[in-house]
Amino acid sequence: MRMIFIGPPGAGKGTQAARLVDKYKIPHISTGDMFRAAVKAGTPMGQEADRYMKSGQLVPDEVTIGLVRERFAQPDTQAGFMLDGFPRTVPQAEALSEALTADGVQLDTVLLLEVPDRLIVDRIIGRRSDPETGEIYHLTFNPPPPEVSDRLVHRKDDTEEAVRSRLEAYHKMTAPIIPFYETSGLLQRVNGVGTPDEVTAVITSTLT
Ligand code: AMP
Repeated sequence: MRMIFIGPPGAGKGTQAARLVDKYKIPHISTGDMFRAAVKAGTPMGQEADRYMKSGQLVPDEVTIGLVRERFAQPDTQAGFMLDGFPRTVPQAEALSEALTADGVQLDTVLLLEVPDRLIVDRIIGRRSDPETGEIYHLTFNPPPPEVSDRLVHRKDDTEEAVRSRLEAYHKMTAPIIPFYETSGLLQRVNGVGTPDEVTAVITSTLT
């Protein structure tokens, strides 16, 4: 299964992608997670990416495409993958198509997780993640169990100001890839409003 997850920040892509990769036994390739790991490791690429991420801007295409190319060179992607947060621009979508064509493979589906902007800011500001398990919680909508509360982290780009830039980047740079996948007949729209379990149920029925 070769899938892409598209959607605005805070739509629930990370949460839902983690559930799908368990089901389909495919690697979860999140460019956001890869950039955060590079920032933490203090690599030159991480330092460059951090400058954009902090303010909610997209990391330049050449850096992002290079990162994904390297990841695709690893053998675990041969049997399939779940791309979460990539592509996010038309040049990224074109680079992905070229890479897949060169490998003689095709995408199976593109899931677009739709959540209205007015719900995004609340979702993101209350978001916390568990660095040990990767689990994502929301202080109100998906409260963490008390035993993990002390170790939860709040992403530094999950502030109101950065979220507004991320939403703007989504509408300006990422939304234009939707017609690209709609024309190819791969796009499946999923209503991302609801509890994580409700959204998983909608995705599962969409994929069967
Ligand atoms: P995410 O975890 O997917 O919300 O990504 C966090 C941040 O990483 C984004 O706001 C961007 O700064 C950067 N990023 C992640 N994926 C991409 C991408 N495909 N293109 C450009 N920047 C990205």
